[in-house]
Amino acid sequence: MAVYFVPWNTSNNLLQKAEQLYEEAGTFNCIQKGDLVAIKLHVGELGNPFYVQPFFVHEIVRKVKEVGGKPFLTDSNTYYHARRYNAYDHMITALINGFNMAPFIVADGLKSENYRVVKTVGILDEIEVSGAIAEADAMIVISHNKGHELSGFGGAIKNLGMGCTSHLGKLRQHRTVGLEIDHAKCSGCGVCKETCEMHLPEIIEGKAQNTSPQCMRCPLCIEACPMHAIKFIHKENLSRALASAAYGVLSTFKKDKVSYVSFAKDIARYCDCLPNPGEIMMKDIGIFASDSPVSIDAAFLYMADYKSLNEASHVDCMLQVKEAKDLGIAGDLQPNMITIN
Ligand code: SF4
Ligand code: SF4
Repeated sequence: MAVYFVPWNTSNNLLQKAEQLYEEAGTFNCIQKGDLVAIKLHVGELGNPFYVQPFFVHEIVRKVKEVGGKPFLTDSNTYYHARRYNAYDHMITALINGFNMAPFIVADGLKSENYRVVKTVGILDEIEVSGAIAEADAMIVISHNKGHELSGFGGAIKNLGMGCTSHLGKLRQHRTVGLEIDHAKCSGCGVCKETCEMHLPEIIEGKAQNTSPQCMRCPLCIEACPMHAIKFIHKENLSRALASAAYGVLSTFKKDKVSYVSFAKDIARYCDCLPNPGEIMMKDIGIFASDSPVSIDAAFLYMADYKSLNEASHVDCMLQVKEAKDLGIAGDLQPNMITIN
């Protein structure tokens, strides 16, 4: 499955180049007249300057309408308590960040109560797919390529697996990672409990304990612990969970009803979910389009300095891509690249 690519060359009109890219890649072939088309994107956490620029999304919305689709922008609420935790805050964040070119429907509802549990394969048995995504007729997945603390990088597979699932689906994926507290190092200071937004660790007989099923394996307490007593175990499981959840999300669509566009620009150390995404790790690369999440993510990794991404996260970035392929999501690990200069 080919990947079409426009280099990030600002001597060109990149909006026009992107149009040419969509045309050659057949990005909108998945849409039939009257389809309700989910434009799955990440509107960016408030304060993060690196999300996909709204004018690119505006153009995609326009093209969806041109072929007779009914586009709506969508994303799922976050599990952590920030500016996209519920539909009210999420919609306001979307508007502030410039996403007003189509209705923004929060896929899992006001408080993440709208989801469909579907069977999947791989490390998870089932996954909670956000309702508006499960009900859409077609989907254009717009991803921003960047680093990620737990999964090495974020692209189309992560956008499907984590981005198209409800609070419970996100928690299910994060809980595949373990957390261990070394009591030989722990001083019982309680910093982990203070740092955790849900105050989940407990200090029992002078040592921290964390047995809460609500723990989402965010790195906050790990980073805050002055004794370096907390660590993740089986961190690689999250990459497997992303692929497994992505498979479940795609099972809610008929064949050939999902298309992918990825922007490898402003490739920061951390993801768009943070208001402070860290330093830019490499030069801007370009825009990719494909009908496969495996191929489009593999194409990004081959063109990126992905060793830097691996080193920053201590995770093999290719793992989620290989896992998705192994689970049966169509695509190529070494895709045929067609460059549009
Ligand atoms: S922050 Fe670290 S040292 Fe302090 S109680 Fe928690 S685990 Fe123990
Ligand atoms: S990893 Fe630590 S900070 Fe994050 S939810 Fe779990 S206990 Fe709280």
